Amino acid sequence: MSAYTNLLRTVALPAGSMLAGYRDVMPYLRGLEESQWWSPAEIRALQDRKLRRLVSHVYRNVPFYRRWMDEHSVRPKDIRSLDDLHLLPIVDKHVLVANYPDDMRDHSIPQDELIQAASSGSTGERLHYWTTKAQKAKKWAGLFRWWELTGWQFGQPYATFQLAPNQGLRGVPLLGNLEWLMLRHRWLSAAQMTDDVLAGYVERLRADQPVLFRSYTSTVYYLAEAMLRAGLQVAIPAILTTGETLSDYQRETIERAFEPGRVFNEYGGDGMQIACECERHDGLHINAETHIVEIVRDGEPVPDGELGEIVLTNLEATATPFIRYNIHDVGALNRTPCACGRGLPRLSRLEGRLTDLFVTADGHWLTVHQFTAFFARQVPSVQAFQVIQRTADDVLIKLVVDNSFNDADRQRIVDTFRGYLGPDNTFTLELVDEIPTTPSGKRRFFISEVIGNA
Ligand SMILES: [Zn+2]
Repeated sequence: MSAYTNLLRTVALPAGSMLAGYRDVMPYLRGLEESQWWSPAEIRALQDRKLRRLVSHVYRNVPFYRRWMDEHSVRPKDIRSLDDLHLLPIVDKHVLVANYPDDMRDHSIPQDELIQAASSGSTGERLHYWTTKAQKAKKWAGLFRWWELTGWQFGQPYATFQLAPNQGLRGVPLLGNLEWLMLRHRWLSAAQMTDDVLAGYVERLRADQPVLFRSYTSTVYYLAEAMLRAGLQVAIPAILTTGETLSDYQRETIERAFEPGRVFNEYGGDGMQIACECERHDGLHINAETHIVEIVRDGEPVPDGELGEIVLTNLEATATPFIRYNIHDVGALNRTPCACGRGLPRLSRLEGRLTDLFVTADGHWLTVHQFTAFFARQVPSVQAFQVIQRTADDVLIKLVVDNSFNDADRQRIVDTFRGYLGPDNTFTLELVDEIPTTPSGKRRFFISEVIGNA
């Protein structure tokens, strides 16, 4: 650790955090840096302990849980470990919204300590919830641990490529600028991404030589594509992608523009830092000291390695509790040890939103990546696609194609879809000029008019 890193960690950052009211960040981060090396059994014991504390707290202080547990004759003492979690209900955004602002809130926290927060709501309905400075400090500590996982240390230059700068102490006049200067942070706006602007960013990155570059997946992918088109490359030791699913194809492109083997995918959502890749890039380590991850289908747990919906319990959040919160993302769990030696369990697969899945008649889940990989590798004449399940056995495949599209491509697509979806389906191919996007600008890959996965 360099002298400057040490000075930041022991003096400047604690002082800055203290001034802004977030004094827990550095002590909590030091704890996480240690506990990630604990054995899985030790981490599990910590989770059990925190879970018991959380449940007894929300029973006393959160009307929703008091009422629900009383009605279902569940007592706090019934929840002794993760094995008892199933006694509590799975909730989702709709439940939280319906019980906002008072029923799903910790009434032991004074009103003037509550901070109103909202999730980005890229999929429609915005989620409003309560948090506190102490909770936010712990969230930042979790985030900083992920950054450190990439090899970055405080004091080494880093850059953020996103729409709005919202990290750190920016809300505090002067302190925010000082913080950026001391932390050697460069923010590049993703608001305007013309080729000229992007070429300027490449110059900037070459001059700054950041050790870590953070960005939404689609924005850094866009930048990487523009760089490769222009024949540009910048060596940056770690690219941290977040906010959206990262496909293998996107990862390859980003690594070609920056550095091979150095893309770290991070996963968070609805105010939680959930998981991040380590240097082995073999799944995403879960922030298990603060979050329990369950994988379920139709409310029931699935075996490790199988895809299901991600259900989260935030062990540190009470202002608005997130207990068995179905975030409607899809992933699979891996509890085998990672070669890096960390005891944190992993998400072995992360497949985005439930709406990015195609559910076959016999209950198989097909992910959008299977299809994007197929088109990218085997039918490059297809520029974009959308699959619409019109009835249980009738599938419409809309395609945007270039001039090289031919009958062999057509046959390959039908054969592949038949292999995925079964021989009894009828497939109709329709060539279109474009695939319409949703009002929020997202492209839907799958639409089922059968199960209505809207
Ligand atoms: Zn690892």
